Formats: sequence, C-alpha cells, structure tokens
Amino acid sequence: MDVLQLDVSGRPQAWITTREAAVIYASDGVAWTLGDPCQVLRGGLQRISGRQSRIEVHPIIAVRGAVPSRAWRQAPALSNAKLFVRDRFICAYCGHRCLPEDLTREHIQPTSRGGQDTWMNCITACRPCNGRKGSRLPEEAHMSLLYLPYVPSLHEDMILRGRRILADQMEFLLASVPSNSRLHG
Ligand SMILES: [Zn+2]
Repeated sequence: MDVLQLDVSGRPQAWITTREAAVIYASDGVAWTLGDPCQVLRGGLQRISGRQSRIEVHPIIAVRGAVPSRAWRQAPALSNAKLFVRDRFICAYCGHRCLPEDLTREHIQPTSRGGQDTWMNCITACRPCNGRKGSRLPEEAHMSLLYLPYVPSLHEDMILRGRRILADQMEFLLASVPSNSRLHG
C-alpha cells in the first residue's frame, strides 16, 4: 500500500511507500495523521530499553516543514494513464469503454495545427476514432465530443496517480474534488 503525504496545511504532496513514511516517522517529521494505522513496521532494537522499535504507519500523514507553494499552483502533469482515468476509459467520440491499450491521447485541436499538449486540449479516444478524425477539428470531421476536457485539481490528480487507494485516502481526497468532476460519477 502507499501512504498519502500531505504538507502541514493538508495539501496533497505525493504517494510514498510505507518505508519512506517510516523514515519520516523516525525523524519526527510527522505533524499529524488521518485514519487508523494500516501497517506496523518493526525496526532495530533500541539501545536503552532493548525493545524492538515499532512504527505504526497511518494511511495519511502530514509532514512538518515549509509549504512549497509553487508546486501547488502548477497544473498537474499530463500522462496517458491519468488522462484515461480522468475520462473513465471512455472514448469521447463513440462512447465505448475500452482497455488502456486500446485508448489514445487525442488532441482535440491537432498538434499539427497548433493544438497544445495540455489537459484542456486532450481527450481519450479509441484507436479507430482517433484514426478516423485524423488531423481535423471535431467539427470538420463531424465528430462531436460526448464529454469535455478539464484540468484536474491537485486532489483529483492524486486520485488519478494512485495505484491502490485506501478508503480513508479516497474519502479525504474526494472531499476536495469539485462536484462536477467525473471522478464522482
Ligand atoms: Zn471511439
């Protein structure tokens, strides 16, 4: 399982491994936690007490330290994997739900015609639809979008990035995802 790392104000920063979380616990870097402990890690013997050290890892940890404000303002990086999750693996043109290997990153305004590689210009399309549209605009190809692109928020991005998200983590992240997001659907 992965641990959701927040900054001290509660903004998501990263998914980290339980080992990485243990290092933060051991260096007294955890400011607060959410959820019940989900894993117990055992370390070396403590020199004074002779007992084995034991770290309870929580699903969500907020780490001490300065808040990096720049990362917060940037739009999340675009990847095919995250794009397909944002669009729920559904082709924007024919509406078919597909496996990731059958999907493509479709540029609504083709890059050959000045379209940008951004969240707002990219949508999920199956291979046949992408091939049929080619380097045309949707209106030129008479192919309309069944849903619209959007830029995920940081909380949403953490959901798109997560590999196996625990219930506590999902509840925390979804609480800050706008209600018009497809992730609520
Ligand atoms: Zn399609």
